[in-house]
Amino acid sequence: MKVWFSDFSISTRNRFELVDITRRVEEAVSASKIRDGLCLVYAPHATAAIIANEHEAGLLNDILAKLRGLFPEGAGYLHDRIDDNAHAHLASAFLASSRTFSVSWGRLVRGTWQNIMLVEADGPRTRRIVVEVLGE
Ligand code: ZN
Repeated sequence: MKVWFSDFSISTRNRFELVDITRRVEEAVSASKIRDGLCLVYAPHATAAIIANEHEAGLLNDILAKLRGLFPEGAGYLHDRIDDNAHAHLASAFLASSRTFSVSWGRLVRGTWQNIMLVEADGPRTRRIVVEVLGE
């Protein structure tokens, strides 16, 4: 089995933000030369997450509005006594910081309406994204 590791950085600009990283992930899969296997997309951060969903302007705003509603800032969290970002930790914990996709015939397998997005919940920051491809 071959293991191919890569990473890149994304600079976010807002407190909450969705950044489409599909092209970067697909480029990594292509560069790996792995034909069949799995692709891990991982944000090694406690206040960000990875999702796969439709890149449509209205929906992106719906997702951000729902995140703000589910994980409001400054809602009396204990962690806010030492930091100001408990809401972002909660969003990351509940959404998860990684997603795994199939790789088949050298391509990332995803639905037509599944773009891969970084969820920023404590921006602006520089975020590292790991793309690791395993297979043959
Ligand atoms: Zn914190």
